[in-house]
Amino acid sequence: MSKVLIIGCGGVASVAIRKCCQVSGVFSEICIASRTVEKCEKLAADLVGKTDTKITTAKVNADDVQQVIALIKNYRPDLVMNIALPYQDLTIMDACLACGVNYMDTANYEPEDIEDPKWRKVYEKRCKEKGFSAYFDYSWQWAYREKFEKAGLTALLGCGFDPGVTQAYCAYAKKHVFDRIDTIDILDCNGGDHGYPFATNFNPEVNLREVSAPGSYWENGHWVEIPAMSIKREYDFDQVGKKDMYLLHHEEIESIAENIPEVKRIRFFMTFGQSYLTHMRCLENVGMLSTTPVLFEGKEIVPIKFLKALLPDPASLGPRTHGKTNIGCIFTGVKDGKEKTYSIYNVCDHQECYREVKSQAISYTTGVPAMCGALMLLTGKWNKKGVHTVEEFDPDPFLDALDRYGLPRSENFDPKLVD
Ligand code: NDP
Repeated sequence: MSKVLIIGCGGVASVAIRKCCQVSGVFSEICIASRTVEKCEKLAADLVGKTDTKITTAKVNADDVQQVIALIKNYRPDLVMNIALPYQDLTIMDACLACGVNYMDTANYEPEDIEDPKWRKVYEKRCKEKGFSAYFDYSWQWAYREKFEKAGLTALLGCGFDPGVTQAYCAYAKKHVFDRIDTIDILDCNGGDHGYPFATNFNPEVNLREVSAPGSYWENGHWVEIPAMSIKREYDFDQVGKKDMYLLHHEEIESIAENIPEVKRIRFFMTFGQSYLTHMRCLENVGMLSTTPVLFEGKEIVPIKFLKALLPDPASLGPRTHGKTNIGCIFTGVKDGKEKTYSIYNVCDHQECYREVKSQAISYTTGVPAMCGALMLLTGKWNKKGVHTVEEFDPDPFLDALDRYGLPRSENFDPKLVD
């Protein structure tokens, strides 16, 4: 019986909350806290009579450490699930340390204001030293390792699908399938269609920043950076069919390279349709993806925030989206002296997700692992102290929970390789 504070009440959090309520024996009490408390109240009202979990709500601006501390002190949760935005990761981690409570999130830290000179100085140094230029990286949260260890607390980072489940797939392959893994290709395919000419499946700011940035991959101990969208492959995905996919930088490459150092090459590919790419290029060319405020009719506006206001709310795509996602990993390596290939993935149907939790598969495939990660921490199956990513824990109970709660794995012992 546990009490959980969930911060954020957007697309992913809504799924995670609904799934936690399906495991009321563990999640006996939940406080849903977010900036816009009305969203929390609406979801809480919708869950009345459908679960034994006791739900309360609260208003919090998680950019303000003191507000989060006050909320934690008042509610006294066993775990804080940060399912707000990556911008709030550090403030919520600080609050968890101050209050002695475990922490988890679904995406690694990046700042809201990438023009902030203090942040930019650190970022530019890191770009030079490490050789990749994504705005997000693990260094900010790994800097908390000693503090969490000393406090006897756990911070579980990036427990969505990718990052998250993809790392559990890597840990599973390492534990059960290979003696040595040589290459990992992480493939994220969304075969869904929402019928809009352009919309993003999750927070537009975070999504568009990620996609318009240079790509990079890990090879022979260092990063190789490439211009955005310059490596394209076609892949035939189980239950989805042939799709074009592009190499992107992605956060789990960084932690897998550190935690499974034998791997010679780690790449991440995501599928995009032509319409999405054409819209994105056009918006980028006219400056709509910029985070730098511009003066418009006497008022400062941030172009990407204005764009976000115009685009469909990702949470509203659920009823319109048809088709399936297929996300997983393809491995090459060696077992018992023989070369071997293997893939493990999940296929998720947008409409089935909508029927179950009123949300499309992108939020579902992130919200379910967040719930399962919380389940691992609350039941003590994952109990390493310090700041850790998913591949550092035993993948077996986590993958069993995913099988049970909506994201079953599929395996292929003779997969087609990307190239
Ligand atoms: P949404 O934009 O739909 O929801 C974000 C929520 O956080 C909203 O409820 C928002 O409140 C709240 N929030 C934002 N700022 C604050 C703040 N300062 N204080 C309190 N609450 C705040 O995002 P998603 O649900 O799509 O994404 C949630 C997280 O999941 C993100 O970090 C995203 O990067 C991550 N993600 C991870 C994936 C993975 O596979 N690992 C895949 C997809 C997403 P308000 O209603 O006021 O805006």
